[in-house]
Amino acid sequence: MNPPQEQATLSGTTGSATAPTIKIFVGGRWVDSTAKTTGEVRNPATNELLARVPMGGADDVDRAVKAALAAYPAWRATPPVNRVRPMFRFRELLEKNFDDIARIVTREHGKTLDESRSSVRRAVDNVELACGIPSLMQGLGLEDIATGIDSQFFRQPMGVFAAITPFNFPAMVPMWFLPHAIACGNTFLVKPSERVPLSQMRMFELLHEAGFPDGVVNLVHGAKEAVDAILDHPGIAGVSFVGSSPVAQYIYRRGAEKGKRVQALGGAKNFVLVMPDADLNRAAQVSTESCFGCAGERCLANSVVLAVGDAYEAMRTRLVDEAKKIRVGDGSEPGVTMGPVITAAHREKVLGYIEKGIAEGATLALDGRGYRDAKRPEGYYLGPTIFTDVKPDMVIAKEEIFGPVLCVMKANTFDEAVEIVKRHELGNASSIFTSSGKFAREYRWRVEPSMLGVNIGVAAPMAFFPFGGAKGSFYGDLKAHGRDAIEFYTDKKVTITRWF
Ligand code: NAD
Repeated sequence: MNPPQEQATLSGTTGSATAPTIKIFVGGRWVDSTAKTTGEVRNPATNELLARVPMGGADDVDRAVKAALAAYPAWRATPPVNRVRPMFRFRELLEKNFDDIARIVTREHGKTLDESRSSVRRAVDNVELACGIPSLMQGLGLEDIATGIDSQFFRQPMGVFAAITPFNFPAMVPMWFLPHAIACGNTFLVKPSERVPLSQMRMFELLHEAGFPDGVVNLVHGAKEAVDAILDHPGIAGVSFVGSSPVAQYIYRRGAEKGKRVQALGGAKNFVLVMPDADLNRAAQVSTESCFGCAGERCLANSVVLAVGDAYEAMRTRLVDEAKKIRVGDGSEPGVTMGPVITAAHREKVLGYIEKGIAEGATLALDGRGYRDAKRPEGYYLGPTIFTDVKPDMVIAKEEIFGPVLCVMKANTFDEAVEIVKRHELGNASSIFTSSGKFAREYRWRVEPSMLGVNIGVAAPMAFFPFGGAKGSFYGDLKAHGRDAIEFYTDKKVTITRWF
């Protein structure tokens, strides 16, 4: 097995071997970006400079779109059964390179290897789903809508689609979109987060090796300038976005103004409601894993425990005890259960929230600010932090912290807890821990977050179910993966026929 950096620098790099400048993938070739500036990709566990990423703009995007438009007619005309053949090969290559990809994810993002492996598995799930496109893409028909007149609809691809993705799942999130879009007959471009572009470099090497025709998949790099170029490009039919809510809202508005289909998945503040009748030991253990997994940088993290009545006291101590078991460190080391946060700047931002919580009067029941890794003093580490006595109107309860900080809040009754959850403007996911089917059902019925766990910490829908939140966590109508993906990446052509 090759070390991850060698893998990551196989095709798409120039410059020094230690911190190469990565390339873009356009029309089946790795080419230099025309960007004038580069950003840095660093290993959050060590602060080591891994690569330089070109901060591309309209020129790179235009080259990628032209390649995708040129590839589209032949790809669209390729029968679906033939379109999925390279997809099956891609799936095999992902299995063969599974651990290499997971190591690249850990190296550029910082999460533990186990967490990286789980995320790569979810990426493979999506590729497997897309392999079924000849069945999934079928339309419907009805004979004799009037005497002698038949009607049917076909799902047809629409052209070039793009995905703009966040830093926290570098290998997985682009695979929520790309496999389904291209299996439907579209061509595609990905703009990964400029903070973690290396996993996608490897994925694109494998896509190329799998034999997709030149121009079907393209990769560009950059940040706002590249994103704006994607939103404004007349050659792009639709955009899938995942990231923070303010950017999601911006993407949705600007993309729609330019006549594009847009699905924009935003940020999260997920509540876990714990009823007194729950298995409190399990609830504490699972909530701790949910909150501190991926160092809290997960859109499905349960970052607020809302305990009802007597459950509050019991959960408070149990959560602190559980969190103390977490072993912080370099995610590539065995036994480590929580890695660093993504950048030094993000560490400062999370520290700022902890200061804010103290100033607002919450009780700091576990303080992770002092954590230092003696072997890696440059890493962006924080220990797990828990606030108790948190009130719904505190900033730490309202804003997405996206770090290893858990807020514990009390509600006197189930109804009061439901109202607190409903008042929050984000509605990505939520969980309830209870042994009562009645409360579980009532909770599902009444709250808005559209990914819901019952006695589950991370309510993550699988590839064959739709993924996405509600309210300020989601802008659009069709969600990611599942059948929604087929709807998003196709238009329905209805034909009404009479033969004389
Ligand atoms: P981000 O919004 O900063 O960046 C996401 C993407 O948008 C990146 O590709 C980035 O280059 C681009 N971008 C950033 N600022 C921009 C701007 N002003 N204009 C145009 N484009 C811009 O998000 P992030 O920090 O990379 O990721 C973390 C966020 O993503 C969290 O809020 C998290 O909850 C969210 N997220 C949501 C889901 C979900 O399913 N809803 C999944 C994963 C992550």
